[in-house]
Amino acid sequence: MERSDSMGFIQIAHTTKETLFDLLFPFSCVECGVEGEVWCAACRCVVRTVPPSCVRCGLWTPAGSRTRAGRTCTSCKPHSSIYAYVSPYLYDAPSVRELVHRLKYQRVRAIAPLFGACLADAFTKAAISLSDISYIVPIPLHPTRERTRGFNQSGLIADEMSRLTGCPVRNNVLRRRRRTAPQVECSGEERLANVRDAFAVADPLAVHDAKILLLDDVKTTGATLEEAARVLKEAGAKRVWAATVAH
Ligand SMILES: [Zn+2]
Ligand SMILES: [Zn+2]
Repeated sequence: MERSDSMGFIQIAHTTKETLFDLLFPFSCVECGVEGEVWCAACRCVVRTVPPSCVRCGLWTPAGSRTRAGRTCTSCKPHSSIYAYVSPYLYDAPSVRELVHRLKYQRVRAIAPLFGACLADAFTKAAISLSDISYIVPIPLHPTRERTRGFNQSGLIADEMSRLTGCPVRNNVLRRRRRTAPQVECSGEERLANVRDAFAVADPLAVHDAKILLLDDVKTTGATLEEAARVLKEAGAKRVWAATVAH
């Protein structure tokens, strides 16, 4: 109890600090610099979005196909715990990369709801209804990292998606068992080993038979999402979807 109270205080302190910071230094568009917006609609329009794809090999679902958008393809299916994947932006796009960086390392929280809206939009465009999904699970950060950053960016993105779609968020279903090195610092093979056994299911009852949407900001190799999905499936999840803002 004492612990959660002090956590709450840290959270409030962070929020106040962010708000003051935001007042003193108003946002400006990552691309054109116009004030008051983190990424203005005009600049957003010109950045290419991509359709849902196989989480493992990146194969796009052909337009007009009878296959459900973003389904893990037949050849990847035996190697993946993820049913389908949605991710509208390519991380190669300089503005997208800069926005992710500002959100995570400069703590510009206002970027998270915008990302949440972009993701909700990607689901609508792909005609995937979130009413098929029991709840959203943001990929948890290790508590130490979350305290340092002041928030979990995936959690904030999930909150906005939830607000827009009505699909609930569950933050306490999955937990980090140990601290892992940031995936960007690892080579391809190291990434798998780095996240192995990194997650545990904290609420097995909630997971049993559930259709879960795992949410993260960026997918690099997919090792983190796969490991989280594996643990959820092992705990009895019926189906695990994954979504990221960029890949
Ligand atoms: Zn702009
Ligand atoms: Zn595939």
